[in-house]
Amino acid sequence: MSLSRSAHPSKPNEPLIIKAPLGRKVFSGGQLAVLAQAAGPEGRIESTPQQYLLVTPQPGRREEVAAALRAAGLLVYDSGPTVRPLRVCSMCQGPVVEGLPAAESLNAAVAGRAVPRALKVAYSGCPNGCAEPLIHDIGVIKEGDRFAVYVGGRGSGQEPLAARRLALVDEGELSDFVGRLVDLYAAEAQGAERFPAFVDRLGLERLRTA
Ligand code: SF4
Repeated sequence: MSLSRSAHPSKPNEPLIIKAPLGRKVFSGGQLAVLAQAAGPEGRIESTPQQYLLVTPQPGRREEVAAALRAAGLLVYDSGPTVRPLRVCSMCQGPVVEGLPAAESLNAAVAGRAVPRALKVAYSGCPNGCAEPLIHDIGVIKEGDRFAVYVGGRGSGQEPLAARRLALVDEGELSDFVGRLVDLYAAEAQGAERFPAFVDRLGLERLRTA
């Protein structure tokens, strides 16, 4: 299995993105042991606000380390210009009520895909929005049995910008709908255009018909 679906694979010395399976907050002792071995005694393991770890493998061990981390039950991605794994809320009402299977399908469909610039996606199981979907490039909020998709949010860097509501879709449509947005961004972004600027340039109507 290749490390990512990126057309711009990470350089050998770039960190790997490591994430516990969606909906889990706990690493087992065995997983931590594999992580420690991956980094080596002088290595660094950095936690991020996006709910994943950055681990720089020892030189020459990138693929071996990625395979070991996957075998330990962790999700592994390149840290190049890709769709980042989903940030999810803590699903306080339970994973079924809050749509964990939909979030897992969406993550499997888009995380690691090559894009012009790293793209962040957040998922919240209710409109409380604890995963901050409205300040992410793409945000999903479960509303009853359906899923609202928001685009173009920005929480840092330049002036903060609230994402705009793009569509309300069924669970069966969610992964394909977001996947088409990612495809459109990959195909039509100008250089390393940021996703919010891409949304502004194309407009919501064009995105709805992606
Ligand atoms: S977004 Fe809703 S379901 Fe998710 S943790 Fe917050 S309150 Fe709970």
